[in-house]
Amino acid sequence: MNCAALQREMITALEWYVDHGVDIAVQDEVFDRTVMPAVPSAQQTVQSLVQSMASAPQVAAPAFLGKSDAYEEAVKLAKAANTLEELQKTIQEFDGIALKKTASNMVFADGNPKADIMLIGEAPGADEDRIGKPFMGQSGQLLDRILKSIDLDRNAEDASKAVYLSNVVSWRPPGNRTPAPAEIEVSLPFIERHIQLIEPKMIVLCGGIAAQSLLGNSQSISKLRKAWHDYLPQTQALKTAEGKGIPAIATYHPSYLLRTPQQKKAVWADMLMILKKKLS
Ligand code: URA
Repeated sequence: MNCAALQREMITALEWYVDHGVDIAVQDEVFDRTVMPAVPSAQQTVQSLVQSMASAPQVAAPAFLGKSDAYEEAVKLAKAANTLEELQKTIQEFDGIALKKTASNMVFADGNPKADIMLIGEAPGADEDRIGKPFMGQSGQLLDRILKSIDLDRNAEDASKAVYLSNVVSWRPPGNRTPAPAEIEVSLPFIERHIQLIEPKMIVLCGGIAAQSLLGNSQSISKLRKAWHDYLPQTQALKTAEGKGIPAIATYHPSYLLRTPQQKKAVWADMLMILKKKLS
């Protein structure tokens, strides 16, 4: 194969990866997965086991904590954060989530922190990861237009017209995959503390992952929307004696709307429910 043909083939292969959402390399070394690894003999396996046991005390501790330790740590740290600045710094410094290793920027929030409405999405995508703010890409632009339809704006100074935005997970999952349950679990204390510090009058949950995680309800988004829920933190250490919930509504995620525009009508119905509640 000549050089130009090889180059074309390589570009086609890369485009194929990007089309399938693979737009990040997580290992320094490229290796050919089509080559079968040599199978070690039983004797080699025993020898390498003996060697690794002998050198065990010198093996470095893993860079990230185990799941339950990381969760306990997240709860403790989230509870100790008393301002938005402290919370942002805490999430930035928390090493209990491996997504931090592959993401470029932590995505904390955007909009007016005094807003009556707090909107929560799933996790940052490529644009948000690059810019460091939520809902910056195509789906964010659609979201801004949807909010505008009921006179809401993330940049509004008037709290009654403003929106504050964040995500359940603060770091971009590689290739925009859905965050894993363990990644959501360890992020939950932080987003729940974030809600406590903002004290919104209303919460809008964008998409199934945000709705299921924050409502602690495994029903599908199509079942969770069209109703007001009473949001309360699930993190035991963040529960208050007062126990007053915040009205929360779930709606389809704007990136789902980009793929399924026929559902815009349903989102419009959800926006009308928000408008009615705001005016009541
Ligand atoms: N999708 C989300 O859920 N959040 C963002 O910030 C961007 C895309």
